[in-house]
Amino acid sequence: MIYKAFKDLQLSWLGMGNMRLPVVGERGPIDEKLASEIIDYAYANGVNYYDTAYMYHGGHSEEFIGKALARYPRDSFYLATKMPGHIMRRAGDTMEVGGTMIAKKTISGPADVFEEQLEKCGVDYFDFYLLHNLSESSYNLYADDELGIIEYVLAQKKAGRIRHLGFSAHASAATIDKFLSKYDCFEFVQIQLNYMDWMLQDAKTKYEVITKHGLPVVVMEPCRGGKLAAPGEAATEILRQARPGDSPAAWAFRFIQSLPNVTVALSGMTTLEQLKENVALFSKDDPLTEEDKTVLQKAIAAMASIVPCTACRYCCDGCPQKLDIPKLIGLNNEASFSLSWQVTNALGAMSEAEKPSACVSCGECSKICPQGIDVPGVLQKFAARLNSAAS
Ligand code: SF4
Ligand code: SF4
Repeated sequence: MIYKAFKDLQLSWLGMGNMRLPVVGERGPIDEKLASEIIDYAYANGVNYYDTAYMYHGGHSEEFIGKALARYPRDSFYLATKMPGHIMRRAGDTMEVGGTMIAKKTISGPADVFEEQLEKCGVDYFDFYLLHNLSESSYNLYADDELGIIEYVLAQKKAGRIRHLGFSAHASAATIDKFLSKYDCFEFVQIQLNYMDWMLQDAKTKYEVITKHGLPVVVMEPCRGGKLAAPGEAATEILRQARPGDSPAAWAFRFIQSLPNVTVALSGMTTLEQLKENVALFSKDDPLTEEDKTVLQKAIAAMASIVPCTACRYCCDGCPQKLDIPKLIGLNNEASFSLSWQVTNALGAMSEAEKPSACVSCGECSKICPQGIDVPGVLQKFAARLNSAAS
């Protein structure tokens, strides 16, 4: 494992994300036996950075990772979690936390959440603590003095219960810049960064803004929720021809390795095989060459019709039709290469109420989507394409 310096710490370049742990069945609870094997392998192979959040796995990720890491000395790993300010709301005289990913709870303020997180993780301090998902809509919540999130986390830092403070962001580069200019208390920023989003989501400017503020970048979604591990036949072929021994995921991680200001690349690994491949990749420094960058550009061009859904599922609970939106977008992406039997089989197994044509274009999903996807537009086009293929 390669380690990167963060102040006086050495952080493993590969960090373990805990939002896509293996689950029982298709959508069940965390498969603790399998997930523990993954954590044990990660720890044994030098991964020392573990990232979770209040809302991951419906609120159970913190509990799981706390238990899994409790078997190791507390000072041998770094635990990161996040204050879910973006899902806190005033409800009359009281406060609530929760929403589409987690059941609503009445709270008195950030202290209730923080204490719950320490208890769930079974620790008395967090090595890294982030404000979760700074975006254009959560900016005012985080900057709200009455709600007092920033004041609260600074007090916890002073008390030694938070060692290092940062935030994760899906906001624009300009909003990140504004936030960092207003508050000088942050020590790192976590953003979605991968070779597709370098241009598509302007991750390049975000990376440059954070670097300009003198802060290190923690990367999330280096493989775009797994999409860059299976980028479609045409792109895979372009990559395979250039480096026959490398998987598409290796290209995605080598892109990250080419950025000197990335301190940790988080990967939400679901299987031991993914983890083994990633541990091997982050054990040797193998950044992209100029020639490789040209190859990647060609692969991106071959993927241009892909809808950039990361399967975060933030949109699902708010859909009045209860559509499995990421599944439908995944099928749409698959179908953009070909209407394969896998696509037709999957659609054939759905009732009419589950298909893209059931979307009523209410737009609730697009309002919440961190990727800015025009979901109803995508589903309408997909439904029209299926319709014309059937006639
Ligand atoms: S626009 Fe369609 S997919 Fe999105 S929430 Fe409304 S019904 Fe669901
Ligand atoms: S459409 Fe957007 S919010 Fe919904 S799963 Fe995909 S990326 Fe997440």
